[in-house]
Amino acid sequence: MSGSVVWLRDDLRIADNPALRSAVDRGGPVTVVYVLDEQSDGIRPFGAAARWWLHQSLAALDTDLRAHGSALVLRRGPAAEVIPSLVQESGADAVFWNRRYGKVEREIDTGIKSGLVESGIDAHSAAATLLWEPWTVLTGKGEPFKVFTPFWRAAQAMPEPRHPVPEPETIAAPADVHSDALDDWALLPTTPDWAGGMRDAWTPGEHGAWDRMERFIDEALADYDQRDEPAQAATSSLSPHLRWGEISPYQVWHRLHETLEPDQRRAAPAFLRQLAWREFNWNEYFHCDDIARTNVRGEFDAFPWRDASDDELDRWRAGTTGFDLVDAGMRELWHTGAMHNRVRLATASFLVKNMLVDWRIGEQWFWDTLVDADAANNAANWQWVAGSGFDAAPYFRVFNPDRQLERFDPHREYVRRWVPADEDRPEPMLDLKATRQRALDAYADMRRA
Ligand code: FAD
Repeated sequence: MSGSVVWLRDDLRIADNPALRSAVDRGGPVTVVYVLDEQSDGIRPFGAAARWWLHQSLAALDTDLRAHGSALVLRRGPAAEVIPSLVQESGADAVFWNRRYGKVEREIDTGIKSGLVESGIDAHSAAATLLWEPWTVLTGKGEPFKVFTPFWRAAQAMPEPRHPVPEPETIAAPADVHSDALDDWALLPTTPDWAGGMRDAWTPGEHGAWDRMERFIDEALADYDQRDEPAQAATSSLSPHLRWGEISPYQVWHRLHETLEPDQRRAAPAFLRQLAWREFNWNEYFHCDDIARTNVRGEFDAFPWRDASDDELDRWRAGTTGFDLVDAGMRELWHTGAMHNRVRLATASFLVKNMLVDWRIGEQWFWDTLVDADAANNAANWQWVAGSGFDAAPYFRVFNPDRQLERFDPHREYVRRWVPADEDRPEPMLDLKATRQRALDAYADMRRA
């Protein structure tokens, strides 16, 4: 038996990792590799916050693998070159990975797989990142769902998602091959080191993910009906852990069906419904592939976006618009790499509707600053706000940030965390009423075009 290569991607965990488990069960040396691929055509480079997270997550994974008798191998370069050459160097005769769903990634993986098979190497892929792979939940006509609620209804009628795959107790040591040093990848910010707030807010890695999960269940799940209030710690904050696959949706799903207190059990369906939005967005991404660049509803190609000045865009990014909720959210994002969902909606709507700026500019900023930024959920949510996505907010629904503040943060608890009461505040950069009307007129123009 000459051993296996396990190629980890968006699944940086040991438990419930079918690719890893299959390689371990097969016997022989198991070479677990992560490839930093910034060169393959069409691969979108990670944003800065994502690079910070990735560094921490890979370091944690290596520590965990060592505790199992293994270690992580790091390689950099186009995967189509790196994987076959690692297979050769390690003398492996099988490769395992968990599937990815972006078009470019699928093409890369298919190409690698056929090359391996041609050279007599077994290549196996498994489902580990989504509860329902995008070709499984379809309408009666065999088409993808374009609206969330029927998608969720159909998903719930599917067979129950499989149980998590047990964690291997030990993992055979890898073949004796070279590994890059993580520090040499320079994923962390240096001058200036802006990651202090992220270090305080997060513990990347599988253990950090499970601590979050259990703390959420113990302390917050029962209050999940307060999830729209950004001052409350009523949501799970699991999104970056899910994004990097430090915990799988199968693990989350089944944990929510295990022992819970009655008030937690009552809250669980609302939480799982939210988790299903993640699935729905991947479904959209799979079927429309280029959603970070292309309007899913083509009519939006004619939308008359404004060319905002650099100063205006800087005010939005830095949180100095003069609107408290928007400014608090943009500062929270910069400081922690995350932003509460309700505030993401308000800040995105402010950019797209009030400032009339193309959603792609906002999507790119979130891509660079969010620790949970992923190809499907970021773009799909921006398109939802803009009205140009599969499922979309009706265009005339323009969030008023001041009313959102009164409704969801009435005691200004959240806002005060990021915008101190004694701060010398800038004048509001725009008139909400006039810009709302301008957005509605622009939409009407587009519809006429
Ligand atoms: P919880 O309320 O605890 O929800 C549990 C899980 O369900 C989340 O961890 C997440 O995986 C999933 N989820 C919840 N809401 C959504 C949603 N609307 N869309 C997709 N999945 C959801 N989420 C990302 O994971 N990555 C992104 O890049 C991202 N970009 C966004 C951009 C905009 C403009 C908006 C409005 C939303 C975006 N979201 C994104 C969705 C949502 O804001 C976050 O998933 C959520 O805030 C994460 O917090 P939580 O883990 O505490 O959520």
